[in-house]
Amino acid sequence: MSYHLKKSMNVTELARQLKVPTKELLEKLPELGFHIGKKAIKIDPSQAEKIKVAWAEYQRKLRAQAKLREREEAMAKKEEIIEEGGVITLPSHITVRELAGKMKMPVTELIKILMQNGILASQNERLDFETASIVAEDIGYQVEREEIKEGQAEEELERVKERIESEKELKAVPRPPVIVVMGHVDHGKTKLLDAIRRTHVVEGEAGGITQHIGAYQAEKNGRNLTFVDTPGHEAFTVMRSRGAKVADIAILVVAVDDGVQPQTREAIDIIQAAKLPMVVALNKIDKPEANVEKAKRELAELNLAPEEWGGKTVMQEISAKKDINIDKLLDMVLLVADMDKEKITANPEGLAIGTIIESHVDKGEGPVATVLVQNGTLKISDYLGVRGANYGKVRALKNWVGEDVKEAPPGTPVKILGFKFAPAVGDILEVPEDFKELKTKKVKPDRKVIEEMTAEKKVSEDAEVEAQFNLVLRGDVLGSIEAILNTIEKVDVPGLAISVVAKGLGNITESDVLSAEATGAVVYGFNVKASAVVEELARDKGVEIKYYNIIYELFDDIEKRLNEIVKPEVTIEKLGKMKVAQIFIREPKYTIVGGAVTEGKVEGHTQVNVWRGEELIGDGEIDEIQIGKQKVTDVLKGQECGVKFIGKTKLEEGDVLEVYREVTKRKEVKLSVKK
Ligand code: GDP
Repeated sequence: MSYHLKKSMNVTELARQLKVPTKELLEKLPELGFHIGKKAIKIDPSQAEKIKVAWAEYQRKLRAQAKLREREEAMAKKEEIIEEGGVITLPSHITVRELAGKMKMPVTELIKILMQNGILASQNERLDFETASIVAEDIGYQVEREEIKEGQAEEELERVKERIESEKELKAVPRPPVIVVMGHVDHGKTKLLDAIRRTHVVEGEAGGITQHIGAYQAEKNGRNLTFVDTPGHEAFTVMRSRGAKVADIAILVVAVDDGVQPQTREAIDIIQAAKLPMVVALNKIDKPEANVEKAKRELAELNLAPEEWGGKTVMQEISAKKDINIDKLLDMVLLVADMDKEKITANPEGLAIGTIIESHVDKGEGPVATVLVQNGTLKISDYLGVRGANYGKVRALKNWVGEDVKEAPPGTPVKILGFKFAPAVGDILEVPEDFKELKTKKVKPDRKVIEEMTAEKKVSEDAEVEAQFNLVLRGDVLGSIEAILNTIEKVDVPGLAISVVAKGLGNITESDVLSAEATGAVVYGFNVKASAVVEELARDKGVEIKYYNIIYELFDDIEKRLNEIVKPEVTIEKLGKMKVAQIFIREPKYTIVGGAVTEGKVEGHTQVNVWRGEELIGDGEIDEIQIGKQKVTDVLKGQECGVKFIGKTKLEEGDVLEVYREVTKRKEVKLSVKK
């Protein structure tokens, strides 16, 4: 007796071994068939061993049940996504397969739905927009028509252009020419705009100081000149997206210590495509290493020979830093403007039309934007129509010296207060005859608007995002940045989000590295460098910088990284059920059982849920299956077989093995680029 007592075990010790609170163990034991009393302290060792086995079984059951629940929840969530719908854009024609992809549903499911709607279609069949949108709307999507967007934007532009032209036919009054300054990074665009501002802008009467509103007006020989001074690459963007309708003349800045560079060439292309007259400012002549001749030669090679060499290109040597020849440059600009005199006119009467050249949300003032009026006169209380929608009403107008003004005639930039929504840079502002012409704008602004508004991009917070890749992008010319962005934008893999957290022209900066650090981004430099200081900062912060000068190599790198982070998609393929009739061999790690397939089929190398009546009691795998003595790959409904069940669940006669296969599909990310 004493011997027996000595070997008996404390319940607390057993609980510790089973990693469960004693109280919980004591409460659970009756359920597992052990009646030792709720207050028991000691326990018989053989009993303890039995409890351990039963407890392990019980835990397996819980785990299997949890796994099943999790999977069911995941499936339910997927269905929810399908049900919730959202907005999809559909082209004029789409194949059944593509449509299924857009709606994130299996093709077979869509074919079934089509059939229910009386449409017999294979997966490669093309549906017209009407049919596709009826089905998509049925499922709960809001449908938008794809190609209309682009077309409409162009149509809009065309219409606005015609409207301005026809206004001019009624009345054409000279207006200030609008000038853009372009050129390679660091060649002195900002410095030149500052120099003109400093020397030729008349300060406000009430001591107003020039403000950065995206444009300003300078005065030369009693005439007004409007300069667009949005930051470098934004000016490019506006010029490009709106076909340079905003500007009349371009000043191309070329630093004579550096000569023609990639963005110089790009600027020339844009200026020529827009058919803008150009004045070349040969800048930095104060520098000892200035080489005016070389710069001229390089320009001549691009068919931009100066007049003294028999060419037609108007050039002026200047120093923006030392204020040398700024006056002469403006004279040249006026000269060029005079050659285009009849074009640089507008009708100041009538309703205002203009282009948004700057837009942001001010903490105090709310959305503010600068418009460059191109026709008519903008007045206080005018309604703000943007893309046919009501964006608010002019509350106040401020000029570039911060003074309140009552109206803005053609050729004039003004800051507008009163926007309910921030418009996008490049948007056309049209004052309606009657505000009733305007649609009420939905509160949700365009994605494009948000992107243009927020310099620092938000990292996607989409709940469905499983993998996120952030990058910072620097390139030498806008063209390459656009090409890279376009390609990245096209990546459409469910659950994968890519964010460009910062981008810009020119060499990689410290701020790029810091943005990358904050968002875990990789910095990509295309045809650009980083200074030793920036590189060191990157090393310090553990930020990776990758340099490329071949675009496909850059894409390969991104592709490789995306493929590393995308999560494989796991789907469950249910196979069938088998009822256990007999236990042949019972080993600790496996059991060999015999039984009949009651549903579907049973295959080898599959996963199993074990059901006892209504309860899921465990899980495992099926290794091999046999019919008689013959190994087989699958057994169909109605047949009998023997299977090797791998798992610790203690099978009993009458258990049902539910057989399924987990199919793991790697989503392959491919950047769609023509090589
Ligand atoms: P942006 O990138 O084209 O706007 O170039 P910036 O106006 O920012 O000028 C780039 C650098 O060149 C700055 O350090 C300026 O001070 C300098 N810079 C600009 N114009 C001149 C100039 O006429 N002479 C000299 N020596 N330096 C200049």
